[in-house]
Amino acid sequence: MGLALPPFQNEPYSDFSKTVNRQSMDDALAQVRGELGRGYPLWIAGRSVETGDMLVSTNPSHKNEIIGKHHKAFTELAKQAVEDCFHYFPTWSKTPVDQRVQLVAGVAALLRQRKQEFNAWLILESGKSWNEAEADTAEAIDFCEYYARQMLRWNNPEPLVQMPGEFGKLVYNPLGVGIIIPPWNFPLAIMVGMAVAALVAGNTVVIKPSSETPTIAAKFVELLLEAGFPDRCVALCTGSGSVVGDLLVTHPKTRFVSFTGSREVGLRINELAAKHQPGQIWIRRVVAEMGGKDAIIVDEEADLDAAVTGVLQSAFGFQGQKCSACSRAIVSEKLYDAFLEKLKPKVEAIRQGPAEDPDNYMGPVISEGAQKTILQYMDIGRKEGRVITGGGTAPGDGWYLLPTVIADIAPSARIFQEEIFGPVLAVTKAKDFDEALAMANDTQFGLTGAVYSLNAGKLKRASQEFHVGNLYLNRKCTGAMVGAHPFGGFNMSGTDSKAGGPDYLLQFLQAKSIAEKML
Ligand code: NAP
Repeated sequence: MGLALPPFQNEPYSDFSKTVNRQSMDDALAQVRGELGRGYPLWIAGRSVETGDMLVSTNPSHKNEIIGKHHKAFTELAKQAVEDCFHYFPTWSKTPVDQRVQLVAGVAALLRQRKQEFNAWLILESGKSWNEAEADTAEAIDFCEYYARQMLRWNNPEPLVQMPGEFGKLVYNPLGVGIIIPPWNFPLAIMVGMAVAALVAGNTVVIKPSSETPTIAAKFVELLLEAGFPDRCVALCTGSGSVVGDLLVTHPKTRFVSFTGSREVGLRINELAAKHQPGQIWIRRVVAEMGGKDAIIVDEEADLDAAVTGVLQSAFGFQGQKCSACSRAIVSEKLYDAFLEKLKPKVEAIRQGPAEDPDNYMGPVISEGAQKTILQYMDIGRKEGRVITGGGTAPGDGWYLLPTVIADIAPSARIFQEEIFGPVLAVTKAKDFDEALAMANDTQFGLTGAVYSLNAGKLKRASQEFHVGNLYLNRKCTGAMVGAHPFGGFNMSGTDSKAGGPDYLLQFLQAKSIAEKML
């Protein structure tokens, strides 16, 4: 009888309206502020490496506040990282599954113990509000707990049909060295999920963190080692994607790449990874979760107040910087004016400012570059439609942008088609449900979508015809929960890996069929 774990349960969120939780978050912010500006080495071949070439991470809420200074890898070090993980793979892959599962459960326990501290790093390095940071850390814990249990399942596969005179079984083996390339927008949860899924399956991993959020990645690698992971089963290869990325992806010993980020980078990685390199003896696997242009349909038979709230939360939570964020509201012409009338004052009432202040619902966008790009899209939107509210920067010493709603947008408009990744909502009028569905599907992406309607027939049609990986009916289109809403999109949104779902680990395993003749 092997290891058994209690049934999976999502990590409960801390309620910050309670003084005790507010106090412990304040204490964590003060503690983390005391650590700001520290230097962080790379972690390669089981040891710390310093190069002196530094990447400086700053606080988007206060652009001059330094969060951490990170030694950057160059290509020779990236090569070493892959090669050492390759040499260590046979050892790690033979570590009993129960032991790997216990190590991952140990990571969850440590994250749980230090939840407020990780929240504080998220608030300060990525500009998440308290509640968004809490959801990120809780999701990281969920991924550990969920994948630990899933690995036990793959370790006890369904019995095979038995041939007379033979004993047959199927075993799931790990692949080899994986490159983990997360985005900055869920800097903890997505990185942890991608890394622990690969590790618990028995692979070794090189983590190439986002250059916007390297400190959270360094903290996580410290935690993995503290949890008892052998020091050579993971490498931390901080550095810009354009410098070390290609080398990591194309190294002949790289067996798979697990990427979450933009369509452009995902396609490039997919193309590079597909090219056979001298000495390479496999077809590299690529798991690529990419962008979105997510729509919420507000049908004429919708509960309008619920729809307005759902659109508001989906469009402006974490400043619209979620792959699942609603960037298109497609509203029945019968409710169109009323919808805009109800939405406008709610958007204008959003409190915005530094993320460390829990009364602020919206913080800054991630960087100066992001602010510039989003402002350009606001200008494009101004020409393509009617600005209802917002449309520029907001005051403060960080990268603040006003939540923006632009109405009367045609499906051919750029702000209807292109991922903006910021607090900009395009609103489009639909004459009926058929047209609304056609507009919602008029995109290269297919990540999340929602429909507000009290008509069961229309909801059924949406279930069949709204072409997205994650469809929500009469609720917002953000906030997927591990285990409940396996996450991943269609078309240019990626390979539909369904993170946090029962099939996810299979991508990091290969099945071996063994038939033994009975003597
Ligand atoms: P990004 O610019 O594509 O970067 C993602 C990661 O790729 C970063 O770690 C980046 O490193 C790295 N990278 C860049 N160029 C590379 C190269 N040539 N080779 C290897 N790695 C390279 O995306 P982002 O701005 O971080 O994240 C936002 C995007 O992620 C949005 O499009 C969003 O929709 C998407 N996203 C999708 C999901 C999903 O589940 N579908 C979830 C979250 C986010 P550097 O930072 O060093 O450039």
